[in-house]
Amino acid sequence: MTTPTDRRWVSLVLAAGKGTRMNSDLAKVLHEIDGRSLLGHVLDTAASLHLSRMIVVVGHQAEEVRRRHTPDGVEFAMQQPQLGTGHAVMVAAPLLETEPPDADCLVLYGDVPLLRASTLHELMERHRLDGNGVTVLTAEVDDPKGYGRIIRDARGDFRCITEDRDLDPAQRGIREINSGIYAFQLAPLLRALGSLRADNSQKEYYLTDALTVIRDAGLPVGVFLLGDPQEISGINTPAQLADAAAVLARRRADPAEGCLACALLSREDLVLARYPGAVIALAPRPYNAGHLWIVPEQHLVSWESLSPAAAEHLLSLAAEAERWLEEAYHPQATNLGYNSGTAGEHVVVQVVPRWTGDANFMPLFAGVNILPETPEGTRRHILEARDRLAAGGRDAAPETGGTP
Ligand SMILES: [Zn+2]
Repeated sequence: MTTPTDRRWVSLVLAAGKGTRMNSDLAKVLHEIDGRSLLGHVLDTAASLHLSRMIVVVGHQAEEVRRRHTPDGVEFAMQQPQLGTGHAVMVAAPLLETEPPDADCLVLYGDVPLLRASTLHELMERHRLDGNGVTVLTAEVDDPKGYGRIIRDARGDFRCITEDRDLDPAQRGIREINSGIYAFQLAPLLRALGSLRADNSQKEYYLTDALTVIRDAGLPVGVFLLGDPQEISGINTPAQLADAAAVLARRRADPAEGCLACALLSREDLVLARYPGAVIALAPRPYNAGHLWIVPEQHLVSWESLSPAAAEHLLSLAAEAERWLEEAYHPQATNLGYNSGTAGEHVVVQVVPRWTGDANFMPLFAGVNILPETPEGTRRHILEARDRLAAGGRDAAPETGGTP
């Protein structure tokens, strides 16, 4: 899997909590699933994104957490005492301040092991694509009681996060909750830390307040709504630990479960053409006009696991997709790439047009919104181009085409 851009990303993993409801002396993040600590699972997910740095904020049993995770190649920041999520970022600030001004920071939690790498990748892409100062990962849940809610304005844009106890009666019905997981532009985040105040009943510094500070500074605050709320479940009790273990076991048994590429195969609105064993489709998320995926029907997670004939077939379809893009958009070039499968992702060949001046190389595709088109518009545009090419006597017409 490519990183969304060549700019730097740092992950900050909050792992200082004690976890009193685990009924155990062990720090919460040291509880294990499958012989790997909860924090270890989170670090594995973050590592698969090839971020520039991973920083873990430790507190309870800090020495043991450090000892166990030093082999993960992470840096540590000490949070003692623990004065909230905003405070956790403050103690890591000296490490973060060495980053260049255009770096971004992904905030994760050592006790949220079910997050998928593909979800974080999409969050990071969306954050960069929209040029947000911060992008918050949210989910809609049936029982939002106890969670901070996402308050949107009349246009549906982010207004603020309001804690459960502070909701007015009209807001109690809001089911969209804050996961606490964010992609921040690092410089505005660091600037916002100085504005955080512990003037609440808990006497803590809340990272949620940084979102309001960043919004008030005039930067966009994005909201990325997650499809599967289970991914953001935190582990607070032995029962939740057992549930999470079961989820991870199911994922191992069926790696295609929740696979974005597998789901794309049946998206008639996005598939452009079907061939034996593979489809050419519009990139699903984040949607970007002209960005195409060539998706093998089989859920294979490494290019090397494809047969030589299958690999050649995919590349010939990529060449076909390039011809469509050239006919549809007349780009100066097209970029071709495929995900490496390091995150257990379905192998997909990606094709995206580029123009001089867009500095758009494959890892940067999401940073450039090529054309202000809807998926329907792009679909029509490309299928018309395909049909023009076919009428011109080109071969390699699809077996069954989508209807424009
Ligand atoms: Zn798949």
